[in-house]
Amino acid sequence: HGSTELVAIIGSPIAQVKSPENFNAWFAENGQDRAMIAVDMAEQDLATFIQALRGWKNLRGCVVTVPYKQVLAGQLDQLSPRAAALGSVNVIRREANGRLLGDNVDGEGFLKAARAHGFHPEGCRALVVGSGGVGAAIAYSLCEGGVRQLVIADLDQPRAQALAESLSRAFPQVQIGNQYESLGDFDLVANATPVGMGGTGEMPLPGVLLETLSPTALVADVVTSPVVTPFLELARSLGCRIQTGPEMARAQMGNLGAHMGVMPQDA
Ligand code: NAD
Repeated sequence: HGSTELVAIIGSPIAQVKSPENFNAWFAENGQDRAMIAVDMAEQDLATFIQALRGWKNLRGCVVTVPYKQVLAGQLDQLSPRAAALGSVNVIRREANGRLLGDNVDGEGFLKAARAHGFHPEGCRALVVGSGGVGAAIAYSLCEGGVRQLVIADLDQPRAQALAESLSRAFPQVQIGNQYESLGDFDLVANATPVGMGGTGEMPLPGVLLETLSPTALVADVVTSPVVTPFLELARSLGCRIQTGPEMARAQMGNLGAHMGVMPQDA
């Protein structure tokens, strides 16, 4: 009915996203008259949508997915320091007066899931493969979390280098680079590329290199389908703890909801 408060998730394509299911289940279980709707932005004009967002009185906020995270960051009234540093937002809060505030909690979700696996970033060494939107968010959170050493790898080397340089300026105490020989020294190895998505069977790192993984490492993937990618399968067979893409997505639900003001952080 008319008073139901809404949150939205926008992206394109959008049919595959699990957020509406997860948010709506949480709202129902917690007796809240709220709902999440999915908006396929391929059918919308972005500028018109943002104007509508400002004036939409029963809308509390909006989760942002691919490919709008970067473009929207440039069009909001205020960004959190991390969203500003990353140049990308994955959640927007709409204030009562229509002001739009952006944040990016991809990295926080990743780290929350990792902590639940017993990974504590303080003093650790981490490798992040993929320096795109999600890789950058994860790398930022690892630096904030206090890692000692961070290696960022990408087939697009200038992209990985640029990220390493900007993070080095923001976190001078962390040793940040792009080079590594073996995986043996890393406490965390994360795939932040789409490689393995859709059951292609591909891996972001060669199998021979993966055999150098320490069995005490946590190995994580951002890919959500399949849930256990071939990369994670191999890591598990080597005795490593693994963290899946859906775990990261689920872990950040409370952070997204808290930013929009509809959930506690730990939901
Ligand atoms: P992106 O395109 O911005 O970045 C991907 C990067 O990976 C690119 O820089 C590319 O050069 C690099 N890359 C591709 N193949 C590589 C390889 N074999 N080795 C090294 N680098 C390689 O993409 P993005 O927005 O960062 O998203 C990445 C993935 O994260 C997507 O599959 C997305 O679905 C997933 N994702 C998951 C969650 C979650 O909660 N689990 C949240 C957001 C996004």
